[in-house]
Amino acid sequence: MEQYPDSYYVASLNKDKESFPSLNDELSCDLCVIGGGFTGLSTAIEAAKKGLNVILLEQNLIGWGASGRNGGQIWPDVAWGIDIIEKNYGINFAKQIWDISLDSVNLIDQRIEEFNIDCDKKNGGIIAATSESKMKEYEKESKYKFKTYGYDKLDILDKAEVKGEIGSSLYYGGVLDYGAGHLHPLKYAIGLMHAAHNLGVKMYENSSVRKINEAKSNVEVLLSSGKVNAKNIAICCNAYLEELNMNFKNRVMPCETYIVCTEHLNSSHQEQVLPNDYCVSDTNFDLNYYRLSASKRMIFGGAVGYSLKNVEGLKKRTKRQLDKIFPQLSHLKIDYIWGGLIALTMNRVPDIGMESEKIFYAQGFSGHGVALTGLAGKILAEGIANGKTAELELFEKIKHRKFPGGRLFRMPLLVTISAMQRMTDIFNV
Ligand SMILES: Cc1cc2nc3c(=O)[nH]c(=O)nc-3n(C[C@H](O)[C@H](O)[C@H](O)COP(=O)(O)OP(=O)(O)OC[C@H]3O[C@@H](n4cnc5c(N)ncnc54)[C@H](O)[C@@H]3O)c2cc1C
Repeated sequence: MEQYPDSYYVASLNKDKESFPSLNDELSCDLCVIGGGFTGLSTAIEAAKKGLNVILLEQNLIGWGASGRNGGQIWPDVAWGIDIIEKNYGINFAKQIWDISLDSVNLIDQRIEEFNIDCDKKNGGIIAATSESKMKEYEKESKYKFKTYGYDKLDILDKAEVKGEIGSSLYYGGVLDYGAGHLHPLKYAIGLMHAAHNLGVKMYENSSVRKINEAKSNVEVLLSSGKVNAKNIAICCNAYLEELNMNFKNRVMPCETYIVCTEHLNSSHQEQVLPNDYCVSDTNFDLNYYRLSASKRMIFGGAVGYSLKNVEGLKKRTKRQLDKIFPQLSHLKIDYIWGGLIALTMNRVPDIGMESEKIFYAQGFSGHGVALTGLAGKILAEGIANGKTAELELFEKIKHRKFPGGRLFRMPLLVTISAMQRMTDIFNV
């Protein structure tokens, strides 16, 4: 079993996480959830609320995957923007997906309140434009979202305003989204874990699923020394679906991305850098996303597709980006660096559906899953309890293509594409 990475999130937990046993027995249940991240926990919570007898299996620790390592940024919309959906599926379809994305954002606040989760949640986020042309594009898109989707939580910021909000002269303007926000993802995952446990979900850690056999009346979930016979299963392994050879696996590309966390900002920098505590995501393809922690450290993400084997190189590269945006923070030491896998789909829209009558899955949040995973879990649980729902059908209509080549081929391909795109960003073309 792997432990949590050495991240700021682990270091800043209020208390040690409760642990759960590994499964060495044969059990039966209505629903077996595989994967203890946001998606699995959300599915388990919603299914337990509906009276189903639920078992959740996690190969490492609850929240060990992307859910306990991410940037913590909460954004409405899907990863490449609702316009992709609109272009391919029409405005009515896009409006339904847009509403689902807003519901996912609201669900976080509902759960924080319902389960009393202390996870440093803050409201507001800025999309910061790295060129004039990108600013124009975002301004146009914001106006369109207001007019067509009735989204009224956006404010356009000019160059001076964005400088005031971020504390960086690098940007040409930005869009402040009051509906966005950020949180401490590991605290949130552990809060969901307690909620699921209190609702009667039986949880097992250090319990890796090796094989799935679909039989006539149930599904057999096989571990090295245990077994679950379930009426239904939900596969919520996202980018970490390694062992299980499911059909949908090649519709996502696992991609490694890294976050650094600096030492604390001093009080004068705190007044100047992100004074209103918004999170920021900039418009580079290989985007920089950052925010302050509750204890006023800078949590800065962006590096893609490299390896922690070269920690110093990775730190230097990320630090260069950070110093470019905030030269006034260039003296800050990096206290933590960690990485994790995101699961990209070709169109950057999550892939949620049914492999068969008994096997449900959700994956491919494309770096945009802090909010969408919650609702994905709700959609899966509703489908499992009540049969195919309109929302599940909606996601099944979205076509997802397989990535060419195997895992070994896909990563260099992504790094090459990212490098080419980075050049485009540097020269603002
Ligand atoms: C560095 C980083 C930064 C990110 N930043 C953001 C951000 O700021 N905003 C945002 O919206 N999104 C962000 N994301 C994406 C977001 O974290 C994910 O979309 C989301 O957490 C996915 O949740 P999940 O539950 O589907 O998957 P995960 O949290 O990855 O959970 C899957 C779990 O399945 C388990 N598992 C796999 N195989 C098995 C098996 N055979 N048996 C049992 N268990 C198994 C794994 O151990 C893992 O714990 C980021 C991701 C990373 C890596």
